Amino acid sequence: MYLGTDVFLIVGISRSGIAATEFLLSQGAKCYVCDELSSDGIDASIAALCQKGAIKAEASKINEIMPFIDVVVLSPGVPIDNSIPISAKRAGKRIIGEMELGYLYSVCPIVAVTGTNGKTTTCSMIADVLQKAEIKHKLAGNIGIPFTSEISSLDAHTVAVTEVSSFQLETLCSFTPHIAVVTNVSEDHLVRHYTMQNYIFLKSKILANLRESEFAVLNYDDYVVRGFAEKTKGKIIYFSAKEKVDGAYVEDDMIMWRGDAVMDKRLMTLGGEHNLYNALATVAVCKALKIPDTAIAEAIIEFKGIKHRIEFIKSVGGVDFYNDSKATNVDSTVKALRSMTKPTVLLLGGKDKGQSFDELFEACKQLNVVKAVLFGETRYKMLKSAEKVQFENYCVASNMESAVKLAYCEARSGQSVLLSPACASFDEFSGYEERGAKFAEIVGNFT
Ligand code: ADP
Repeated sequence: MYLGTDVFLIVGISRSGIAATEFLLSQGAKCYVCDELSSDGIDASIAALCQKGAIKAEASKINEIMPFIDVVVLSPGVPIDNSIPISAKRAGKRIIGEMELGYLYSVCPIVAVTGTNGKTTTCSMIADVLQKAEIKHKLAGNIGIPFTSEISSLDAHTVAVTEVSSFQLETLCSFTPHIAVVTNVSEDHLVRHYTMQNYIFLKSKILANLRESEFAVLNYDDYVVRGFAEKTKGKIIYFSAKEKVDGAYVEDDMIMWRGDAVMDKRLMTLGGEHNLYNALATVAVCKALKIPDTAIAEAIIEFKGIKHRIEFIKSVGGVDFYNDSKATNVDSTVKALRSMTKPTVLLLGGKDKGQSFDELFEACKQLNVVKAVLFGETRYKMLKSAEKVQFENYCVASNMESAVKLAYCEARSGQSVLLSPACASFDEFSGYEERGAKFAEIVGNFT
């Protein structure tokens, strides 16, 4: 691939597509831009890129320009089996993702975090430790900052802490991080990836190119992730909250690293067993980077968590309201429920991602769920699961606003209301942030 003469087609003109096009244009490359969808935002972005030298390509006429294209750059939102990459493949073109493009033109060491849940939290914790240790670093990737937008600031002395989603893994081929982390794997995104087998394969791709000098940080307590050790040449570092592994683990409330105590887990500001796992992964990464224990311990202890992840909103009439809008799959909701210390009214629902909810309602039976309020597009599928596993404490609302009001009526003083929907938000909202903000706004008006 040569930026001087190759012609690029960038498909999907949202955050990543814009960043990829701007990077390529800044290097003097010829770029066509294309999006199958049309909205005010997309049309304005395409117009702005055309002002900078890009050429608009119509999705319906893509076969006409395909002979002139050398490399197709896909945004993570565009599935690999979309008609445009299929046409490109038929025409024998090279297809890469925005992240792969960034990787090919970067010289920095990379820490890459993937897994079904905990990616953003773990990346942010690692970044806080690097900050504490005064090591130059940048957060990038699925966390909301495209890798290609950071290339100019990523020199050989800056660590890129990258969050990598399964969507991005579809189009990664030569991407080789210095340290790759897999937090956990559970059912998610099956509408896009079709089967669990394929989803697991995509997650394992993060380890595929590691050489003996690189590290694979793996969750030992997750059966699937533990098995990934066989798929890499990288040095394995495990983390576990249950076993004394070769890596980071827990012994008598202390977070340990290969026989030495790093910190007392009870000092962590952030609660929940799942966050202990995120802290263990962080310790493993930071020890591999040879960061002193004091910086690691201080940053993890002070870490306060991120918006929309079991975020306390307020108390009204003795009822605590929590926003966990980022819980978009069953596992993250079960983990949130496990972190609740009071009887909980649970708000569930949204857009279907192809997962089964049976396990969720089994968990509701065992954990302290006094009522589940089911809302949105998935409410009837959820209702069927609840009936199937004989969880009877549910009620149904058409949308989130009615569901939140219903939850407030149901909750008694001394209980919590938790929005942890186990579904995507796109039936009602533009994303989990908008859903969480709306929840906070509704709750804000309760007196
Ligand atoms: P991701 O970036 O992988 O989506 P986040 O850190 O944004 O992960 O958290 C997403 C959701 O998953 C939140 O509801 C959060 O409370 C929950 N979560 C965070 N870490 C973990 C973990 N290690 N295991 C399971 N759930 C987690």
